[in-house]
Amino acid sequence: MTDSLRLFFALPCPVSIAQAIVRWRTDQHLPGRPVPAENLHLTLAFLGAQPAERLSTLYQVAESVRSQPFEITLERLHCTPRGLLWLEPAQSPGALLQLADALRAGLTDVAIPFDSQAFRPHLTVFRDGAALPGAAPPAYRWLVDRFALYRSDSIPGGVRYRTLREWPLQ
Ligand code: ATP
Ligand code: MG
Repeated sequence: MTDSLRLFFALPCPVSIAQAIVRWRTDQHLPGRPVPAENLHLTLAFLGAQPAERLSTLYQVAESVRSQPFEITLERLHCTPRGLLWLEPAQSPGALLQLADALRAGLTDVAIPFDSQAFRPHLTVFRDGAALPGAAPPAYRWLVDRFALYRSDSIPGGVRYRTLREWPLQ
């Protein structure tokens, strides 16, 4: 039987920013299930279950993507109807949109399917949450200098992400 992996491309949240976000959200006493600090990320493309044999092709796609490092400011709090509470930029940097586009175009070229909903950059901080008035976050400035391919595994009580490979932006 072919092994299948649950995969996604994402920007790993730098530890210092993850720590600042965790400090802020702890102070807010917001309802919901906090996303573990080590799981904070910004998804670029969600691939879902893929045969392990596709990894080498995925690495080639990622390798072919070119982007300079860029800065993103997470400054808005948004709550979806399904209770995902996330941080997002007021304005998405062009370089971020180009990076996601390039990755998605590369996946399309090699006929690897991915979730094709329009890209809306966000970093989820709570699940089963609710927006509370007055919970305006500080603006988190993040210098994006890499992206990664993750595998996602269910573990008791949650999910664990593992970095399969990272690519620097340069
Ligand atoms: P769990 O599903 O166990 O609550 P999770 O959502 O963090 O945990 P995954 O479902 O493996 O873990 O998702 C990994 C990443 O991909 C998350 O950022 C998630 O929001 C995103 N994602 C998951 N499913 C989709 C989808 N159908 N379309 C777009 N993004 C998705
Ligand atoms: Mg999920």
